Amino acid sequence: KVIVFGSFVVDLMGRTPHLPASGETVKGSMFRMGPGGKGFNQGAAAHKAGANVTMVTKLGRDAFGQVAQDTMQELGMSSEYLLFSEDTETGCALIMVDENTSQNKIVVISGACGTITNEDVERLAPLMDGAEYLLTQLETNISSIDRAVRLAYEKGVKVILNPAPVQPVKDVLLSMVDLVTPNEVEAEIMTGIPVSDKAAADQAAKWFMDRGVKKVLITLGSRGVYIHDGIKSGILPAYRVKALDTTGAGDAFNGGLLTALSEGKDLWEAAVFANALAALSVQKLGTTVSMPLRKEIDAFLAE
Ligand code: ADP
Repeated sequence: KVIVFGSFVVDLMGRTPHLPASGETVKGSMFRMGPGGKGFNQGAAAHKAGANVTMVTKLGRDAFGQVAQDTMQELGMSSEYLLFSEDTETGCALIMVDENTSQNKIVVISGACGTITNEDVERLAPLMDGAEYLLTQLETNISSIDRAVRLAYEKGVKVILNPAPVQPVKDVLLSMVDLVTPNEVEAEIMTGIPVSDKAAADQAAKWFMDRGVKKVLITLGSRGVYIHDGIKSGILPAYRVKALDTTGAGDAFNGGLLTALSEGKDLWEAAVFANALAALSVQKLGTTVSMPLRKEIDAFLAE
């Protein structure tokens, strides 16, 4: 049993011939709406990969909140621990994509999932009993993350922190983290060390471990992933695939990692599984819809 504690937002994506300047209105060419948020994407990835996931996020009582509930129902995810705000709307992300350059401009409004209270987190106590892992990111309010991590740590649930979107985190929070999974940009911003090669990655890993983190995994995009399991370190290359849409690659990877770890695989084996899941997801458009099913991952790994 695993818990994903994080954000849900509805992605509102429009494609445009060029990104509008301040005060300018541009006629866009395409609109797509769908479930998103790092927390939700990671939870859905893990669920589709076969993990027994409980998703914890906070929604408003509105149409966008219904999008989350409908998606979870379609996927067969448990909605038992969904939290609701009576006065804050569900979060959303306003995404503009330049159809020529693929450059984007994004505004994320956390809405309800930025208002998770201490009382909300305390209600999760029964859920922590018998859970093996809690995976969280930095997209909900930081006070809720502090609280959830502490509760998990005290209950003996291993904490995986995907520090995205990157922001400063207190050393005391890191001291309760079993595994941290930044991408290379996040690793550099947090540690001050550019992850240019394995030696530099070892330095960045040491920075985390000096603060009490047990294991470090840094995703390197199409180059793969750096792993430090607390004893030895190395780089696992990514699968060579034709990438169509790499948004959410990190979310796919984290969901896969959580799934494999919950099945008792070691960090290296789990990274192979997560690499495969992410490689499959970047070949499709979209976020939750692009996350592969377990049978697709197993078939890919058997090739
Ligand atoms: P983020 O999306 O957070 O920036 P990365 O870009 O580091 O994360 O990607 C996460 C993981 O997704 C990588 O470690 C790799 O396993 C996989 N991945 C990303 N891009 C590609 C790609 N072009 N080809 C194959 N795998 C990829």
